[in-house]
Amino acid sequence: MPRIGPRRELKIALEKFWSGKIDEAALRKAAADIRAANWTRQRDLGVTVIPSNDFSLYDHVLDTSAMVGAIPKIYGWTDGPVSLDVYFAMARGSQKDVGDHDGCAHDHSHGHGVPAQEMTKWFDTNYHYMVPEFARDQTFALASTKVIDEYREAKALGIQTRPVLVGPVTFLKLGKGESESFDRMSLLPKLLPVYIDVLNTLAAEGADWVQIDEPVLALDLDDKEKTALKTAYSQFALKVPNLKIMLTSYFGPLGDNEALALSLPVAGLHLDLVRGASQLDSVLKKAPADLVLSLGVIDGRNIWRSDLSKTLGRLEAIAAKRAANRLQIAPSCSMLHVPIDLDQEDALDPDLKSWLAFSVQKIGELAALSRVLSLGRDAAKDAFAASDAAAATRASSPKIHNPAVESRAAEKSPGQSERKSPFSERRKLQDKVLGLPSFPTTTIGSFPQTEEVRKARAAHAKGQLSDAEYDAFLRKETEKAVRWQEDIGIDVLVHGEFERNDMVQYFGEQLSGYAFTKHGWVQSYGSRYVRPPIIFGDVSRPKPMTVGWSSYAQSLTKLPMKGMLTGPVTMLQWSFMRDDLGRDQVCRQIAFALRDEVVDLEKAGIGVIQIDEPALREGLPLRKGDWKAYLDWAVECFKISAAGVKDQTQIHTHMCYAEFNDIIDAIGAMDADVISIETSRSKMELLDAFVTYKYPNEIGPGVYDIHSPRVPEVPEMMELIGKARRNIAADQIWINPDCGLKTRGWPEVKSALTNMVEAARQARMG
Ligand code: GLN
Ligand code: ZN
Repeated sequence: MPRIGPRRELKIALEKFWSGKIDEAALRKAAADIRAANWTRQRDLGVTVIPSNDFSLYDHVLDTSAMVGAIPKIYGWTDGPVSLDVYFAMARGSQKDVGDHDGCAHDHSHGHGVPAQEMTKWFDTNYHYMVPEFARDQTFALASTKVIDEYREAKALGIQTRPVLVGPVTFLKLGKGESESFDRMSLLPKLLPVYIDVLNTLAAEGADWVQIDEPVLALDLDDKEKTALKTAYSQFALKVPNLKIMLTSYFGPLGDNEALALSLPVAGLHLDLVRGASQLDSVLKKAPADLVLSLGVIDGRNIWRSDLSKTLGRLEAIAAKRAANRLQIAPSCSMLHVPIDLDQEDALDPDLKSWLAFSVQKIGELAALSRVLSLGRDAAKDAFAASDAAAATRASSPKIHNPAVESRAAEKSPGQSERKSPFSERRKLQDKVLGLPSFPTTTIGSFPQTEEVRKARAAHAKGQLSDAEYDAFLRKETEKAVRWQEDIGIDVLVHGEFERNDMVQYFGEQLSGYAFTKHGWVQSYGSRYVRPPIIFGDVSRPKPMTVGWSSYAQSLTKLPMKGMLTGPVTMLQWSFMRDDLGRDQVCRQIAFALRDEVVDLEKAGIGVIQIDEPALREGLPLRKGDWKAYLDWAVECFKISAAGVKDQTQIHTHMCYAEFNDIIDAIGAMDADVISIETSRSKMELLDAFVTYKYPNEIGPGVYDIHSPRVPEVPEMMELIGKARRNIAADQIWINPDCGLKTRGWPEVKSALTNMVEAARQARMG
């Protein structure tokens, strides 16, 4: 179950605790209340196997590091139970500023004191976990009894639970060693005794089953990892005789790990039958008769109501082949990734609402399926009738289906995704029209979203500030930003994005086919939650979205003003997506809507347009074999959005991450005239990729790390520019920061950009 509480109770308690307003006991009480509410709600809804230890104060991978004592020396822990201070220092660092995170700025390890552990995405979700760190001489010891405590806590409430643990192989694989070459699987023999100890304690406390998550079963595994799985689960079978293990896979089919998974000596195996529907027949054929199969038939990653009749049909076919006591039904994966309760949404369109299910509703669906499977159709008549009705309206509703959009997206004319001329020719025209100096300077789009900007937005949303007043305020902010960029000598200006709440939401709110919730929060990491938009129907653009602000900003200056859009892949990736259409199809629809915006910007006199794709890399499928198909359509969608303009219009894109080497061909194939990327934190290492590949177009490797309030000095930036020059031709290089500046304050931005302009000036002198 989601652990954040229906009204973000966990976040509220954590923030109070961190700011000293409540003590540890009060925080623990708030956490216990959330757990109790989750358990009793599941019991009341009819769930028979209720999990515990799915709760976490911050992150379940961090909890696992705490459990096994994988705590780097800098946090000052030696032995005994991990204190909350140590736990939160690992999560957030200590004595430093936190809270300046955005779509791509996930580094919070700056400042003084102890840095936080690294954070990265949990598989292909938007949830971030704290990366376990392993030293060469790593030892493990039981350092947190959270899983046992929470089992007891539920039991005291009269609820028998099935505790959940991150499996040892997944834990090791998701961690990092001191060096790239360090073989993390070699730590398994030292790690297993802690797990065995925990499992035996759980059994002694009265647990009969435990759920052990090994989502790595959905990944390409090497031989060492496969052997590690065999070793771990045979050890458990041998040394934990009194506890049944539900080995849990999710986020994809088992694929080539199927035989391995079925060979492990466990009592149960969970399958993700939403992402991995195709594996069912084969698993059914090969699974030992006494293996309990947990069928993940309800989508734990998305917010759509299930078609219960269809799902029942599938389940009945399985039930005909397998003993009832060898089957369980479940969500496909943890429901951490969906909001809690649809009933809280009182402003959604009623049709749309009837098509959705959040975690509480999903449990209701499981309960209905289970009742019908054991008692017959009449046992859940109403639930089935509502589901049938929703499926019928969803299939044909004009709110979803827009024939013009569908036929445009289905068009297969390759010309649509190509610019008129190749880059070499476009470049000549762009040089002439834009007349930029060498090493041109620009920024990535946003300027500081100050307290004042956020307050004005909130006041406007509450109706305390009229449309006209808010508009006047934004115009003033934009004008100040333009004047200031002119003063310090930036070459290609931006308008500052003061009018935008969020780079996806701002566009989603103006596109048809998108909807927004009031309370649909999902944990992104720790106490940071997001409310992803819902793409429920065909996406189209009723009217221009950014032309007003961009042309206003352009009217203030003779210098080129860069138009600023969020790209189709990012618009898709950071939303809940419809499940009745392929990702590629939805992305194409968005691409065409953006293409019209790009063309309108050009018509309005905007000669430089940036289409941000910070999420392109995170859309990569979990299995390498699926990468090419994804990259093909993702790149094509980007190109569709960009290719409607004349040769002299300069298209930029921006990405903010440092791993490029394995997708560099695709980046090149996007054929943006200019790409800006994050490089300063990796000290330009990623530029290596651009040497072997010979990136053909222009490129702005970030010379200013915006993830920290620190102001880089001119020589530092010169050094980075020097490194870039060794790898790319001087006439390909742009000078810009790593990413947008919305999380920064004006004083540091002013100093840093002034230095950046000076660095560019020095670079031009040779
Ligand atoms: N244009 C956006 C900005 O500057 C890009 C943000 C991002 O890459 N995440 O804020
Ligand atoms: Zn960025």
